[in-house]
Amino acid sequence: MSDTVKYLLDEQHLPKTWYNLAADLPEPPPPVLHPGTGQPVGPDDLAPLFPMALIGQEVSTDREIEIPEPIREVYRQWRPSPLYRARRLEKALDTPARIFYKYEGVSPAGSHKPNTSVAQAFYNKEEGVSRLTTETGAGQWGSSLAYAGALFGLEVEVYMVKVSYNQKPYRRALMETYGAQCYASPSDRTESGKAILAQDPDSPGSLGIAISEAVELAAQRDDTKYSLGSVLNHVLLHQTVIGTEAIEQMAMADTYPDIVIGCAGGGSNFAGLAFPFLGRKLRGGEDVRIIAAEPSACPSLTRGTFAYDFGDTGHLTPLVKMYTLGSSFVPPGFHAGGLRYHGMSGMVSHIKELGLIEAQAHHQTPCFDAATQFARTEGIVPAPESSHAIRSVFDEAEACKRDGTAKTILFNLSGHGHFDMAAYTDYFAGNLEDRDYDEGALQAALAALPQVAAE
Ligand SMILES: *Cc1c(COP(=O)(O)O)cnc(C)c1O
Repeated sequence: MSDTVKYLLDEQHLPKTWYNLAADLPEPPPPVLHPGTGQPVGPDDLAPLFPMALIGQEVSTDREIEIPEPIREVYRQWRPSPLYRARRLEKALDTPARIFYKYEGVSPAGSHKPNTSVAQAFYNKEEGVSRLTTETGAGQWGSSLAYAGALFGLEVEVYMVKVSYNQKPYRRALMETYGAQCYASPSDRTESGKAILAQDPDSPGSLGIAISEAVELAAQRDDTKYSLGSVLNHVLLHQTVIGTEAIEQMAMADTYPDIVIGCAGGGSNFAGLAFPFLGRKLRGGEDVRIIAAEPSACPSLTRGTFAYDFGDTGHLTPLVKMYTLGSSFVPPGFHAGGLRYHGMSGMVSHIKELGLIEAQAHHQTPCFDAATQFARTEGIVPAPESSHAIRSVFDEAEACKRDGTAKTILFNLSGHGHFDMAAYTDYFAGNLEDRDYDEGALQAALAALPQVAAE
């Protein structure tokens, strides 16, 4: 048998529906609240920002939601994505564990994000929207939405966290190649951006700030809506094609995972792989351990507080009950730009609170150690974000070796790192810092959480 085993599904097995975990939860997540009234938000509150179809998905409790054919048509270019068994890696780790990975780096933008950007562009186009605004950290989301905008004929305006804008000119060039406009955030194009610049002209920016800018612009114009690349229920929903395919592919391999692992920034690639497995478990099916892997420098699930908070720094968004580091949080510089969000998806936070998933935090050096060994055995250079999942896989595989148990581990390789080679260069040069998020700064940010009567 060859070292690399690949499980491919043909086009007939491209999922026809997305899976909605809300249908199978033992209790519903806490409501999303209007920041002014403190009451649950309704569709009208969200209508300036999102098309009705996506608002409907946001609150739906239907188990299966049909994927419109024009979206499947686009998905077919790279989906079903491959599932691999990492035999060379297993040998290198000398572990009895069986390691499988679902590879989402095969999309045009190089990550899982087009699974939702394509869907969001489609629904916006259907409802007559001509322009989308969004934020991006390292640039994966901006480039994924730029790609989808190009396919459906929408203008895309991206607010990119300034530090990344300066460090990652190639991601910016990719967005421009797809026809999007990209601005460094904080910018002087919005009131939110100007307010930050007045306080700190050298602000490196943050996702929270960039979200405020994009939301502010979308709220101003009827032809413009806002698009978010993670966190929201409809985004997680679109990503479930990953797990739905993986269940079939694991069956082709005659197995089922004992452990499912994904890295977690806002929670979307993690949820995309894990929710279909969790849903089976909740409906009385196979048991499975589910682990979210996050950075020690931005540890919302492992060190944050489960509380109502804003999604952005300018406090324009509704209040979501989630694990948060506080919306004023500006993470220390580290390389996994896609994992630098202060909060966590409300749905992922809710199932963590219910004890249905575990979380692990990792420093970046051990993540790059694992990613490099992965590249040297499996050939694919992981995105720095994905390397957090790989670190957890290594830790679980090493535990299997110690206990002599042969667990089956499945993880999401959410993207490739071809635009992140500067991070690898820093790692090889020994220039990475492994910082915990400062406890004093964390307590200060948490002290500023909004007071919510419903709690
Ligand atoms: C954006 C990104 C992430 C983090 O976002 P989630 O919503 O938590 O999935 C992880 N991996 C890659 C490759 C990304 O681009």
